[in-house]
Parts: sequence; structure tokens; C-alpha cells
Amino acid sequence: MSQSHVLIVGSVALDSVQTPSGKAERALGGAATYSSVAASFFAPVRIVGVVGEDFPAEHLAFLKSRGIDTEGLQIVRGGKTFHWAGTYEGDMNQANTLATELNVFSDFRPELPESYKSSEFVFLANIDPELQLKVLDQVTNAKLTAMDTMNFWIAGKPDKLREVMSRVDVVFINDAELRQLTGEANLVRAAAQVRALGPSYVIVKKGEHGAVMYCTPPVPPLCKGGKEASAPFDEGGKGVSTSFGEGGIGGLCFAAASYPLEEVIDPTGAGDTFAGGFMGYIASTGELTHDNLRRAVVYGSTLASFNVQDFSLNRLKRLTKAEIAERYEEFKRIVFFEETDAR
Ligand code: AMP
Repeated sequence: MSQSHVLIVGSVALDSVQTPSGKAERALGGAATYSSVAASFFAPVRIVGVVGEDFPAEHLAFLKSRGIDTEGLQIVRGGKTFHWAGTYEGDMNQANTLATELNVFSDFRPELPESYKSSEFVFLANIDPELQLKVLDQVTNAKLTAMDTMNFWIAGKPDKLREVMSRVDVVFINDAELRQLTGEANLVRAAAQVRALGPSYVIVKKGEHGAVMYCTPPVPPLCKGGKEASAPFDEGGKGVSTSFGEGGIGGLCFAAASYPLEEVIDPTGAGDTFAGGFMGYIASTGELTHDNLRRAVVYGSTLASFNVQDFSLNRLKRLTKAEIAERYEEFKRIVFFEETDAR
């Protein structure tokens, strides 16, 4: 059986970032970049985006070296690459944006290469929700669709964003963004509001406090992208409806710890890396079972924990599969506990 591909659209950027540990000037960044590289540890990736003529050839060569198909990455002659500048101080979960220069993304119209259209796993990484919708319109064979966003688009295009949410299976969002989008301080209620828009899963990233996955009962057939899931979600009695009664406690069906790092060098791209790891792992197994989704959350957390240990994609560049496996096991040890003996 040929391997399933992950199609990823989102920003490909040059980032200028300052953190208490130092700074990086116009370094490789972008939501699609982080998530594509993370997913490439598990599955073949197809990237959709745009860069300017100023995008260094070495970055393109790096993406290709990870086996990422760059046919869908347009290069605009004379154009300038998307540039984001931000700082982190104190709360490393919260970036202060200094500049968002969309540049070539302002006029970007994503046209999927023919070979991309049948991709089974589709991740709409952070970018203008109108562009996310244009990509969704062109895919024909999706088994799982997911999206991410950030405060910039929540403030600027909330209606379009809700439309994207209503058309995907999985919404990745961080706690601050979830509160901003819904106006609801309580995350259980806020996640329920987003689930009410349509997605089966809302995965809330909470930085150094891990990630939680909320599911909608009864589990609807995956997926909205067109194709039915190959394995029924509750196969083997492990689905949400059987493990958690009516969809878990408050809709919460899984919580993952974060890895206890003593030093975070640069949190940029942690969320994108998380989502890319999640999607790549799911694509590598091809199965949308509940156990697999849980493993995917832990793989996402694992990849994100490495990413924050250096600026830009520098840690991912030297990451090995053996390191990923080792840290995954550590995650398991962190959350293991015995049954109660207090009855
Ligand atoms: P994260 O830290 O996961 O929120 O993502 C950081 C990445 O998002 C950076 O590499 C930026 O280039 C990219 N980024 C920042 N602002 C935007 C935006 N408005 N739209 C798309 N990507 C963005």
C-alpha cells in the first residue's frame, strides 16, 4: 500500500525573533514550514505556499532534503517573503507581535498541483482563512482535515475563520486564542462552542501546561473531506462513546502533559510543530482510531518540546527518530498512574 501524504498550506516565512536567550534575524520560519518539517518525520509531505525571490536557496534545499514536495511552493520574482517579527518576555507562551508583513501572501491564490489534490490528510496551517478555504475547495479525497490559526486572523477575519472551522474535522487552537475567539473564559465551555461549529475534535494547546483534546459525542463519521474513515472510530470498543460514555467528562477525551524543560530558548512554531507531528503520525498509520489520535497528540507534544530548544528550525534540523522515540516514552512515564486503592 502506498503511503498517505500530508498536504500542508500556511505561511512560509522569514522570522525576526527576540527571546531572553538571544535573537534570530530573518531566520527560516512560518507555520507551514514548522508543520511540514515536523510531519516529515513520519510521512511524505506536500507543501502549498509562496515565497519571494529573497527566500534563501538553502532553505528550499533543506525542505527538499526532508523529502517535502515543494511543487506547490510558488516563488514570486521580485517579491518579498512573508516576514514576522516578535518578542517573548516573561510568559514564554505569549508572543508579542512587532510586525506582520504579508508581502507575497497578499496576492497569493493557491492553485494545487494536480498531484496534490488527492492527498488524504490535509492541514490548513496558520494563514489567511480565505486561503485555507481555497485549498479546502480543491481537495478531493481527504480522510482527515485539520486547521490552526492565531490572534491576527481571529481579530481580522473571525467569520471566515468560523467557516473554516465548520468544514474541518480537527481544530488546533491555543488557550488564549480560544478565549479570544469565543469570549468565554472557561476553556471547557469555550471548546464546546467551537465544537458546536462542526469539528469533531478541538485540540487546545496550553504551552508549558500540555494539550487537551475535546471530542464531540456521538462520534460522527469521519470525515467532512469526502472519504469515510477506513477504520471506524469506535472500533474495538475504544472509541469515545464507549470509553467515556457521552464523549468524555465535559467533552474532554484526552489530556497530555508537556515535557518539563528547564530552559525554553525560542517558543516560535511550537504550535505548528505540534500540529505537524500530529498529522504526520496519523498519516503514517492511516487509522483514525481513538488510540491513534491519543498517540498523535503525544507525538505532537514530543516534536514541539524539541522545537523550543533552539531558535528557528535549528533543533528540528538535527533531530533524530531515536530521540523522538525516547522522549515519547518519557511522556508516557510522566502521566502513568495506578488505579485507586481508596475504595
Ligand atoms: P506559533 O509560534 O506556532 O504561533 O507560529 C509562529 C509562526 O507563525 C512564525 O514562524 C510566523 O512566521 C508565523 N506567523 C506569524 N504571524 C502569522 C500570521 N498572521 N499568519 C500566518 N503565519 C504567521
